[in-house]
Amino acid sequence: MSATQQNLKTQFHEAIESGLNNKQLRSNLLNAMDTLRTNRKKLINTRFLDWNTLKTKAKELKQKNLRKLDANLELFEKNATQNGIKVHWANNADEANELIYDLMREKNITKVLKGKSMASEEIGFNHFLESKGFEAIETDLGELILQLLHEPPVHIVVPAIHKNRYEIGELFHKKLNAPLENEPQKLNAIAQKHMRKEFVEFKMGLSGVNFAIANEGAIWLIENEGNGRMSTTACDIHVAICGIEKVVENFEDAAILNALLAPSAVGQPITCYNNIITSPRKEGELDGPKEVHIVLLDNNRSNMLRDSHYYRSMSCIRCGSCLNHCPVYDKIGGHAYLSTYPGPIGEVISPQIFGLNRTSPVLDLCSLCGRCSEVCPVEIPLAELIRDLRSERVGQGRKNVIGTDPSTQSVAEISQMRMFADMATSPRKWRFAMALVGSLGFLARYLAPYIPLLKNWVRYREFPQISGGLHAKVSKMQGVIYE
Ligand code: SF4
Repeated sequence: MSATQQNLKTQFHEAIESGLNNKQLRSNLLNAMDTLRTNRKKLINTRFLDWNTLKTKAKELKQKNLRKLDANLELFEKNATQNGIKVHWANNADEANELIYDLMREKNITKVLKGKSMASEEIGFNHFLESKGFEAIETDLGELILQLLHEPPVHIVVPAIHKNRYEIGELFHKKLNAPLENEPQKLNAIAQKHMRKEFVEFKMGLSGVNFAIANEGAIWLIENEGNGRMSTTACDIHVAICGIEKVVENFEDAAILNALLAPSAVGQPITCYNNIITSPRKEGELDGPKEVHIVLLDNNRSNMLRDSHYYRSMSCIRCGSCLNHCPVYDKIGGHAYLSTYPGPIGEVISPQIFGLNRTSPVLDLCSLCGRCSEVCPVEIPLAELIRDLRSERVGQGRKNVIGTDPSTQSVAEISQMRMFADMATSPRKWRFAMALVGSLGFLARYLAPYIPLLKNWVRYREFPQISGGLHAKVSKMQGVIYE
């Protein structure tokens, strides 16, 4: 294993330890996840006649749209341009950042007002602007909290879900000189007061996109706070970053996907604000931006689309349900996933977007319980894809994932897998090994904390009781040996 891979592993283990040892974080996450899961279940049981059929329909719609993504993208560009929107293409994060930076310089703008956008997190937009001496001001409440904390998001829908209202009250008191409060309404009022002054001053707003509608050349943004709407309408220029997979053919398709999004994300029938942007401000209109720019971001998505298995992860509508139901995520939070995208969907798309060599340890976080695949509203087989990516990591997949090179492969892991395959495909060896484990396995309970391969595993878990007595196993073993 290369030094870089070793550093990555160390960083990964430190992030997990930090999550596991932070009792406040675990309790905040557990409470929040419990509420989100309960709300989702209640809503599905009471408001939907046939949730599963709707899910299957959404999966088929997404797959249909992905199959014709090239045509949809061209149609979107043509119609959006006709509507007066400027469409830009960015192959990767650098191109997207440079493009927006050039636009800011051209317009003499040094600060941008941001609504919530995971794509902007993906390209590291805030850091990029900082490195140029420019500034991004977050308007989403969760993102504002994170900006004050100097932390990346922990969740794709609720970015600061790991903080409770008391912690947020203290943060506002310390960083915004606000009175010490802990009531949600009062905290909201503090954030509003802080942000309101930014809204009137800013010339450029930046947002993400939930759906881009090809045959209308329009974008659809959903949110619950209303701040996003301010950054898309109050500024003279609106820039939206849109992952190419967000483009669908028509409003009918988008409406079906949208019907699953809010229920899956937070257990709400619909979000409070739905913004459909079809053009810049037209003559005679009183508000709206004078210019609208849309950046179509690839960032290795075309590569994902080419693979017969992994393309399915491009169906994701970023609802976060797989995170909310993951028994690992709610113990460690999002920072241990080494990228913008945490949880099961992060384990699947991060290696494909950022490279397996930069994210491969996260694949170990999955227990393959399959809950994520069950709750995904577009039926992405997440657990199956995580297993596939593990094969890539040991050099046995279809080798379509970027950053798959020998430096990502652990010699120990590869030889253990070979040994296991050798044993599991020989009945004689398998029975012998099982007999040995049954007889001497009890020793592992005591020795595990000292065995390098097991010591991390048992640090937070009890070693399981291995069934089978010594006597029974020895006689079986003899039977195997002499058969
Ligand atoms: S993978 Fe499925 S459950 Fe997870 S965020 Fe995407 S759409 Fe939601």
